[in-house]
Amino acid sequence: MPDPQKTDFRSNTLFYTDMENSAIIAIQKLVKRFPMGQGEFTALRGVDLTIRKGEFTGLIGPSGSGKTTLLNIVGSLDVPSEGEVRVLDKSIGSLSAAEAARLRKGSLGFIFQSYNLLAVHTVYENVEFPLLLLKLPSEERKRMVMDALEWVGLTGKIKSKPPQLSGGECQRVAIARAMVKRPSLVLADEPTANLDAANSHHILQTMRKLNAELGTTFLFATHDDKVISYLRRKIYLLDGKIDKDEVVLQSASNA
Ligand code: ADP
Ligand code: MG
Repeated sequence: MPDPQKTDFRSNTLFYTDMENSAIIAIQKLVKRFPMGQGEFTALRGVDLTIRKGEFTGLIGPSGSGKTTLLNIVGSLDVPSEGEVRVLDKSIGSLSAAEAARLRKGSLGFIFQSYNLLAVHTVYENVEFPLLLLKLPSEERKRMVMDALEWVGLTGKIKSKPPQLSGGECQRVAIARAMVKRPSLVLADEPTANLDAANSHHILQTMRKLNAELGTTFLFATHDDKVISYLRRKIYLLDGKIDKDEVVLQSASNA
């Protein structure tokens, strides 16, 4: 006869181990200070946050609340002043510059407000760029670029250059570029800030589809109600601290 006490204990242990393993971002007591004049400005004042694989979540808050600062640290573009930030099991504060670059290149995708496309290169070349850094063979690159352009509905524009595209199309190229290597985690900072409502909804639907089909984890920084309405979890920041953290119950209207 198995001892029920023991069985329970073991299954609980397994459960917690699984939960820990599925955390893609684990942040404890994060403080970020910037030098300012003779003193310092504290942009993040003790943030604790866990985000699991496959979440579609966002940092919400007014301008200056610390959203970009937090996203940049998670993206290994900046380092904590205090506390521990683990992303895909790497401690951001202790990575060398080369290790941080390897993490970004291999596992992270970035989408910015300002697209950051290369204007003299074609749509195809812009999307291919992250794959050149990974030194993949050209046939494989081609397949991956065409897949990514198909996800965002831009296979008809592969030879166009960014100045010939609308803002919405540029952001779709930026999404394809962020997604082409199928990263585990995509960080999107105010991705709809330069888009009209129709284009905002289109790119948000595209990202939700990629989240559902590829299991990609998305973390947004936003104060746009359109973005907020698509999130499955809403993390509110106020003055560098988490004010509220809400999981959205799934319903027919936001499924
Ligand atoms: P949000 O993205 O929510 O608008 P940010 O993270 O950009 O907010 O900024 C949070 C606060 O930190 C702001 O007051 C901003 O001025 C300050 N801050 C951000 N980056 C720096 C920096 N490099 N040096 C000094 N202060 C900064
Ligand atoms: Mg910002």
